[in-house]
Amino acid sequence: MKAHDGMYIGGEWRPAAGRDRIEVVNPADEQVIASVPAGTEEDVDAAVRAARAAFPGWAATPPAERAARIAALRDVLVARKSEIAETITAELGSPIGFSERVHVGAPVAVAHSFAEIGATYAFEERLGNSTVLLEPVGVVGAITPWNYPLHQIVAKVAPALAAGCTIVLKPAEDTPLTAQLFAEAVHEAGIPAGVFNLVTGTGPVAGQAVAAHPGVDLVSFTGSTAVGKQIGATAGAAVKRVALELGGKSANVILPGADLAKAVAAGVGHVMNNAGQSCNALTRMLVHRDDYEEAVSLAAAAVAKYPTGDPRDPATRLGPVVNAKQHDRVRGYIAKGIAEGARLVAGGADAPAERGYFVAPTVFADVTPDMTIAQEEIFGPVLSILAYADEDEALSIANGTVYGLGGAVWAADEASAVAFARRMDTGQVDINGGRFNPLAPFGGYKQSGVGRELGPHGLAEYLQTKSLQF
Ligand code: NAD
Repeated sequence: MKAHDGMYIGGEWRPAAGRDRIEVVNPADEQVIASVPAGTEEDVDAAVRAARAAFPGWAATPPAERAARIAALRDVLVARKSEIAETITAELGSPIGFSERVHVGAPVAVAHSFAEIGATYAFEERLGNSTVLLEPVGVVGAITPWNYPLHQIVAKVAPALAAGCTIVLKPAEDTPLTAQLFAEAVHEAGIPAGVFNLVTGTGPVAGQAVAAHPGVDLVSFTGSTAVGKQIGATAGAAVKRVALELGGKSANVILPGADLAKAVAAGVGHVMNNAGQSCNALTRMLVHRDDYEEAVSLAAAAVAKYPTGDPRDPATRLGPVVNAKQHDRVRGYIAKGIAEGARLVAGGADAPAERGYFVAPTVFADVTPDMTIAQEEIFGPVLSILAYADEDEALSIANGTVYGLGGAVWAADEASAVAFARRMDTGQVDINGGRFNPLAPFGGYKQSGVGRELGPHGLAEYLQTKSLQF
């Protein structure tokens, strides 16, 4: 993999201020495939200055012209689809088919949606004797995780561009090569110098510098709740806007009368996709006690279709988890599930391969709501199946964690599923297998976050209001 030996700042690749580097490891074979510079406070400061300098010009650019640049960016992503998918497979370990379809397909759809929304959005409204102007917030500090390396970037950068903001991006340590490809795409799309800037580096150094920089007006972060709390505190102390997209422990509620086989197969697939490393993964399956054993058998059969394999092989559906730390962490949770008395139906804590950070696809039955594996975000291919006696109990289990990001309800009819979904404390619910919608606001209730991404609600996060009275 070829990597840039610098930071993308002010429209060019500039040498890093320091000498430290970050090695990029392929999680399928544990080999170092590249290295990138580890940015310092000085690099972040240079990037913020470039973003500040570019802000007045970009903010004053007509929305339709900004939207046209986002459309051009989408076209470059489409043209470089294979290269991006291969890079994501190499640094994240995602199966190549999933990389093409989802890791590149979703951000292309999101970029497309912001090209359309940005061109038609009402940046001005009339209220009585006032005109309300919706103006860009300013310089955005975007800090992104590794789990969807391109999507997490596009979900922040595209709406920020549409709003008229300029950006400094600090991507995850594990997946900087995708971020560098994105910077190339920004350049090719003709987005003016300084509007988008990239500083690779570690969270505690470069990430912290972005969050604390007085020249950053809004910090948009996606990642763990622990780091999100810290960033929220830093931003709060400086009275800076903050958007946090944090963890999840989403419930997949299968109500009596639902198509059990379909619901279980879809639920298992949702958890195995991306090796369970999706913040909204439906990791808790809730089944009525009368259907319970049948659901457990169906889940065991469904998970057998996800053997781990080489992510470069188009037939592979389950690759490794991202790094050694996650490998230990996920298997630690599996061991804890067994120790706390859950029934292991498939998989287990033993690594299924000698090399690579593979985790066996794992299903637990007889999981009770208070168990660690039912409360904490595992971020691996691990499904817990819980039993409930009636709808009220199902609801109290579904709502019984500190999180509230995603969720799903399956029922015999849409109306019953919707009635249940209305009572769930969560930001998104898929009804009877509802599909991903790039326009739907995405974000958390409770400790899953603050703010929303995607669609017009996502664009609004990057705007501030000014009212003129006549
Ligand atoms: P993390 O929160 O440490 O990293 C996310 C991003 O924040 C990275 O870019 C990182 O460099 C940066 N960061 C880390 N410390 C920082 C700091 N002090 N200041 C500013 N930025 C900082 O996540 P992780 O360690 O990669 O993963 C740990 C767990 O987080 C996972 O097991 C999972 O539970 C959760 N997670 C959630 C999401 C999500 O989409 N919500 C994504 C990745 C991980």
